[in-house]
Amino acid sequence: MRPELSEYTPIYSGKVRELYEVDDEHLLLVASDRISAYDYILDTPIPDKGRVLTAMSVFFFDALGVPNHLAGPADDPRIPEPVLGRALITRRLDMVPVECVARGYLTGSGLREYRANGEVCGVPLPEGLVDGSRIDPPIFTPATKAAVGDHDENVSFERVAADVGIELATRLRELTLGVYARGADIARERGIILADTKFEFGHSSDGDLLLADEVLTPDSSRYWDGRLYEPGKALPSFDKQIVRDWLTKESGWSTDAGTPPPPLPDDVVERTRARYIEAYERISGLSFADWPGAAA
Ligand code: ATP
Ligand code: MG
Repeated sequence: MRPELSEYTPIYSGKVRELYEVDDEHLLLVASDRISAYDYILDTPIPDKGRVLTAMSVFFFDALGVPNHLAGPADDPRIPEPVLGRALITRRLDMVPVECVARGYLTGSGLREYRANGEVCGVPLPEGLVDGSRIDPPIFTPATKAAVGDHDENVSFERVAADVGIELATRLRELTLGVYARGADIARERGIILADTKFEFGHSSDGDLLLADEVLTPDSSRYWDGRLYEPGKALPSFDKQIVRDWLTKESGWSTDAGTPPPPLPDDVVERTRARYIEAYERISGLSFADWPGAAA
C-alpha cells in the first residue's frame, strides 16, 4: 500500500512543482502538468508533462555521474499513487542560494546583458555576437533567486564568491560547466542543442555538495532542434514553440495585453504533449511508455 499524499506535510509550492516533507531527511519533489509561457502559468495543463520532465531528470541524473540528491527510484514505495511517475524521493538538502546557469549559446537575458555592456555576469565576450551565437567555451552565469513573481537577477562570479565563499563558488562554477558539457554532448548526439541550463546544488547533512532540484529538463533548460540551427540564429524553444506560436499568432492574445493568456485548444495541448515525449525519447533513447505512473 502506497501512502496518501495527505500523509506528507506540504512545505513549498512553486509555479510548477510542489515539495513535501517525507521525514527529517527526505523530501517528495512533485512535478505538475502546469506549463508557463510569457511569464504566465497557463490555465490549461499539458497531460503527462510532469511525468516526462521527471523521466528526463532521472535519465540525466543517471547519465551525468556526479553525486545527486536522488534517494530512491521512480517507483519508490514512499511515492503516493496519484503522483507516481511525476514525483521523486530526494535527500533534504541545505540549498546553496545560487542559480547555477551555464550558457553555450547567447540568447535571452544573456543577450540583453551582452548588448548593454559586452559581457554576461562579468564575463567579457567577443564583439559581434548576435542572438543565438555559440559561446565557446561555455560560460558560468550565476543568478540569485528572486522573490516570487520576480525574475532572477544575473550576478557576477565575484558576487557569488562574496556570498558563499571563493572555494564553494569555484566548485559551483566547475561543476556547472562540467555538467553542462556532459548534458550538451548527450543532447548533441541526438540532434538537440542544449543552449543553456540552470542547476541547483545543496549540502547534505554529512557536508557533501550534491546536484539537486530538476536537471536538464525543458523547464530548467533551453533546448533547440539541432536540425534548424544556423550559427547566430536563435531558435524557438523546442518544447514551448507550439504554445507560443498559437498564443501570439492565432489566439488573438498579445503579450502586452496585460491579461492572462486564453485556454489552449485541444490540438495545441496534444501537439505539445507529443513534443515533450519526443524530446524525452530522442534525448534518452528510452521509451516513455515504460515510465511509471498512469498516462494522463
Ligand atoms: P521556479 O523554478 O518556477 O522559478 P521555484 O524555484 O520557486 O520557482 P520550484 O523550482 O518549483 O519553484 O521549487 C523547487 C524548490 O525546491 C526550489 O526552491 C529548490 O531550491 C528546492 N529544492 C530542490 N531540491 C531540493 C532538495 N534536495 N532539498 C531541499 N530543497 C530542494
Ligand atoms: Mg526552481
